[in-house]
Amino acid sequence: MTRVAVVAAPDYAGAGDVVRRALELVGGAERFAGRGDIVLVKPNLLAPRKPETAVTTHPAVVDAVLGVLADLGAQAVVADSPGLGTAGRVARVSGVAAVCRRHGVEVVDLADGPVAMAHGRVYKAVSVSARVLEADRVWNLAKWKTHTMMGLTLGVKNLFGSMPGRRKVRLHFRAGRTPETFAQHLLDLEGAIRPAVTLLDGIVAMEGPGPGRGQPLDRGLVLASADAPALDWVATRLSGFRPDDVPTVAVSRRTGRISPDRIRVVGDPAAPIRFRPAPGSPCDWRLPAPLRSLARALTAPLPRFDATTCTGCGVCVEGCPAQALAPGSPPRLSPRQCIRCYCCQELCPTGAAWVPRRRMLSLGGRPGRRRPG
Ligand code: SF4
Ligand code: SF4
Repeated sequence: MTRVAVVAAPDYAGAGDVVRRALELVGGAERFAGRGDIVLVKPNLLAPRKPETAVTTHPAVVDAVLGVLADLGAQAVVADSPGLGTAGRVARVSGVAAVCRRHGVEVVDLADGPVAMAHGRVYKAVSVSARVLEADRVWNLAKWKTHTMMGLTLGVKNLFGSMPGRRKVRLHFRAGRTPETFAQHLLDLEGAIRPAVTLLDGIVAMEGPGPGRGQPLDRGLVLASADAPALDWVATRLSGFRPDDVPTVAVSRRTGRISPDRIRVVGDPAAPIRFRPAPGSPCDWRLPAPLRSLARALTAPLPRFDATTCTGCGVCVEGCPAQALAPGSPPRLSPRQCIRCYCCQELCPTGAAWVPRRRMLSLGGRPGRRRPG
């Protein structure tokens, strides 16, 4: 049986006790690291945003984890390859850097530095930052958020930041033409890294147009498991979505990576709360999975760009994996090239890039945001 711990956590003030209890429920922290181990802690450092925006893993959760690792006598480093900005800047703005300073822990940017190769199903060679593969243990600290392309970003998706900067963009283009192919690639990455433990920060989660511009949602839970795909399965149910709505979860079940009847939920009782889905995301459908790819191809909306809030910074142009954008204020979109990955919305620092709600076949959830606020 694979255990997934669900622990009630009303606010971040009690994060220390909550994290320790969650680890206890899945076998105890000493199962996941020992004295002298080099432990790479991988939070979600997507973009330089304040903790209250729920974009990044909350510093109180990182603080709690670094405290546990210090007690175990392990040597921690905190590392990520952010979508926007450097790891140092994202850590500063999100409050993670201050926590790391207090613990004497280094923040490492995985965008640079050596790359190692691992084997995958989608691509024979999967590039991963060598720092990740060389660590004795990886502790995966994901944030619970909706995601325009992937439905939800949970434990498995959080590991995408283990791939160095520009390689992420190239791979997103090659693997990102359908959410299912991209999901299999993410599972390949998870298989290569095999994090010792995954913790999901859902004390304040995100709903709506995530992962960068959704609204905070008081979910009041922390999840933990030695198995990231199993944790994602439980989190998807608790978000009120069907497992088939989230491509990483659907693919992990279809390929036998998880068996739902072998997942045991332990800890506090928690009922599902339906998150407002990201407009245009797979969770925004009420269609059987086999029809979804076709429907997506026919109706997935193109991103839009708001001229009044666009600063012409070019971040979306740089980050577009399909090179579908030309510089401008707002940038010019080539619809034929666009693969509807919505990285532009994810990366845009002002909210000028946005995804309209699909008009047809969108029958689920509360109404999404239609224009940038
Ligand atoms: S849409 Fe956003 S990311 Fe793109 S140029 Fe304008 S402000 Fe920058
Ligand atoms: S324009 Fe936006 S949605 Fe289209 S491919 Fe580029 S980043 Fe993805």
